[in-house]
This record gives sequence, C-alpha cells and structure tokens, in this order.
Amino acid sequence: MPIQTHSIVALVGRPNVGKSTLFNRITRSRKALVDPTPGVTRDRHYEKVVWNDKLFMLVDTGGIEDASGDTMGGHIRNQALAAIEEADIILFVLDGREGVTPADKEVANLLRRTDKTIFYVINKIDGPEQETEQMAQFYELGVNELWAVSAEHKYGFHTLMDALDESLLESDDEIDLPDGTVKVAFFGRPNVGKSSMINRILGHDRMVVSEVSGTTRDSVDTLLTHGKYNYLLIDTAGIRRKGKTKEKLEKFSILKALAALEKCDIAVVLIDAEEGITEQDTKVIGYTQEQGRGLILLVNKWDLVKDDKERQKQIMGEIALAVPFVGFAPLLTASALTGYGIKRLFPTIGSVYRQFTSVFPTSALNRLLQDAVEDHSPPIYKNKRLKFYYTSQVGSRPPKFVIMSNSSKGVHFSYERYLTNRFRDGLGLDKVPIQLYIRDKN
Ligand code: GDP
Ligand code: GDP
Repeated sequence: MPIQTHSIVALVGRPNVGKSTLFNRITRSRKALVDPTPGVTRDRHYEKVVWNDKLFMLVDTGGIEDASGDTMGGHIRNQALAAIEEADIILFVLDGREGVTPADKEVANLLRRTDKTIFYVINKIDGPEQETEQMAQFYELGVNELWAVSAEHKYGFHTLMDALDESLLESDDEIDLPDGTVKVAFFGRPNVGKSSMINRILGHDRMVVSEVSGTTRDSVDTLLTHGKYNYLLIDTAGIRRKGKTKEKLEKFSILKALAALEKCDIAVVLIDAEEGITEQDTKVIGYTQEQGRGLILLVNKWDLVKDDKERQKQIMGEIALAVPFVGFAPLLTASALTGYGIKRLFPTIGSVYRQFTSVFPTSALNRLLQDAVEDHSPPIYKNKRLKFYYTSQVGSRPPKFVIMSNSSKGVHFSYERYLTNRFRDGLGLDKVPIQLYIRDKN
C-alpha cells in the first residue's frame, strides 16, 4: 500500500507583497485543477492543486499563521520557520516596487540555512521595463536566481510555474507500507502531552516498532505492529525528536498541522484535562473535518481530575459545546503519565478505521434510501413532492454518498440531516464523518 506523498508549497513574505494575489493566480489559473471535494468549506489560504498531473498543497502562511502578541518581524520569522520545517518548496515573495527591507533580509538569512527548494519571487514586476529597472536592487540578497513576476498581470508567471513544476515531488515518490496500515497523527497544543503519549504507546506491551524514514521531509514516522494490525504513527512537528532530547520548544503552527493532516487517515486530538478545550483545539478539530479525516478526541492528564466528578462533567460539557459538529468522534480519557486509558486507544482507532474505509453495495444503499423516504415523506417544493431516485457510494475515507433527486435545491437542511442520520444508523457509521451529496438527476 503506497503512502501518498506530495509537495507542500508555502508562500512566505511580508504583508502586501502580493502573496494572496499569487495564491489566487495559481489556484485559479486555467492550468490548475483545484481539489473538487464538494460541500467542504475551505479556508482560502490553503488549497490542493493539481498542476501537470502533480498534486501539491499550496499554503499562504501569511494567511494562516497566528500573529497575535508578536511583533511584525517576529510574525514573518515564525512563518518562515514553520515553512522551513514543514514545506518542501518555499516561494519567498518580495515586493519589486519597494525593494529589500530589513525584514526581508532577516528572512533571507533564515532561508539560506536550509537546503529546501526556495524560489525568490520578486513580485509586482509588471513588464519588461520594470524588470530592467527594479530587479538589480535584489541582487544584494546574494541569491543566484530571482524570479521576476507580476501576480496581478501574469508577467513571468508561467516561467515561474514551469520551474516550480520541475521541483515538485513526483507522485511515485512513494514508499510501501503493509496493506491496511492505518495512518494516525496526534495533534494538540504544546504541553498537552503528545510526546509523553507517544512514548507510552511505543513502550506498550507487545508493540513492535520500526522507524520509517523518508515518508516525507526530515520527519521519522513509526510503523507499529500490534498483533495483525499495522499503524503508521506520523511524526507531527518533530514530537519524537523532542521526546528524546526535550530541548526544542514546540510552537503551534497550522502549517505543521496541515502537513500532518495531509498524510493521516485518523487524527487523534489531545485535549488537556486541566486546561479544558481551547480555541486552538477547536480550530484544529475544524481543520481535521475540512480535510475529511477520521477523528478521536483524547482528554489527557485525566489523572489530575480523576477524583473530581464536577470538573469531569464540566470538561465534557465544554467539549460538546465547543465542537458540536463532531458528535460522532469517540471521546476518550487517558493519562500518558500513569498509562490509564492507553489500552482502549488502539481498539478505538481500529473501529474508526474500519468505518472510515468501509464500502457498501448499491442495492443495500437503495433499500436504505427507500425505507428512509417511506418512513418520513419528503416535503413539497414548488408544488411538487421531492423525489429521491437512487443512491450510490462514490468514495471512501470517509464514506461519500450521492443521492439523485428531482430537485436538489428543494432539499431543506433538516431533511438532508434526516437522511444523513438514517444512513449513519443503517450502515453502522456512528464514529466517522460521512459525506452525503444530493444531486439533480438528468
Ligand atoms: P499579501 O498581503 O502579501 O497577501 O498581498 P496581496 O496579495 O493582498 O497584495 C497587496 C497589494 O499588492 C494589493 O493591492 C495587490 O493588488 C497588489 N499587487 C499584488 N500583486 C501585484 C502585481 O503583480 N503588480 C502590482 N502592480 N500590484 C500587485
Ligand atoms: P507535548 O508538548 O504535547 O509533546 O507535551 P509533553 O509530552 O512534553 O508533556 C508536557 C508536560 O505534561 C510534561 O511535563 C509531562 O510530564 C506532562 N504530562 C504529559 N502527560 C501527562 C498526564 O497524563 N498527566 C500529567 N499529570 N502530566 C502529564
């Protein structure tokens, strides 16, 4: 079973240099095919793009990384650091009209120290005249190759994209894993206990552990074999490195989270029992669903509240309130410190994975649809009763279904929810997200 690896391309640069213009230029270019997963609300700051048959994830780090409490310089620095760690290719965008600023120089100095592929993109070069006049000043960066472009007017754009295309990972840069390997990644804010949890798991009874390097970048993923089951533990944000050395202070980064989400089937999000669910947790949980991943919520440090029933109730109540959109996700409690709850984790991962990958015969789905419609007639829309003709499964991971109707527009949210619930119940999909699309027949 191959694990899909594709490039993460990050846009880095000061505000107003034209990152989002370039982002839109790339994602909306006629040559780009943006991931067509329907029904998903997407953050316009990251997008999966197919370019010449190669898939990559384009991320505007200026749009996603959190600037709160930081100076402007610190903000760009953090973007650059996250990109250096997590991206395969960095597009460092500079403003051709403004020239090189001290903040640009600082970023350039950081970038010089990595061996990632970096494109120094000088934007707002709107034509050949500007190129002659404005480019010279950028050579003080000491960079051999500069790419003059106009994100707004397309000048130089295709030259840049052709070069980028050559740097993208080939889709066959893949490594083989045993069939049915479940890819799991752990998320959670710094200090929630990710490293401790992973060390606990690695030390677990009868767990056979081998390192799988080269699945991506510099990270080391871990293949766990437990009985006949295989799990790939994806190293988010160098958790294991940190677990060993304890020195590196991890900073939360959405780019890191996205990079790991790209690769996993199931996201385990850790929540701190002492702290309760935080806004950052809620955000990450939202991202897991935008990416259509299986999800387990794991409240860690349960040892700290184990005798406090009131607090326990409060924690669970707050979680339910903060993320009502993932009511299907198993909610577990554990302690990486004492080992409590760890035994239940892998069976839960297993059952989520089985549901996540399940495939159903069309005949059974149609029977289910028929029964659902008979039990609760669809409403009238524009003087006609809504009809649902047939359904089929159009994908898995997570399960996706299409239902053909005489008027998809007329299907009210509440009826759609009813159908979704009937599908969930009828198919035994109580632990995973499912996607149900209603389409017009003809
Ligand atoms: P970001 O903050 O880096 O994402 O920058 P934006 O993409 O929002 O662009 C900042 C400003 O620069 C906007 O007013 C854009 O219209 C302008 N801009 C972006 N690209 C170009 C370009 O290629 N040429 C010119 N002349 N202006 C541009
Ligand atoms: P990470 O930043 O998410 O990888 O968190 P660490 O694994 O480094 O843990 C952060 C701190 O929380 C360390 O001091 C751990 O000893 C502590 N910790 C982790 N898990 C637990 C737990 O289950 N109970 C308690 N009481 N402390 C924990």
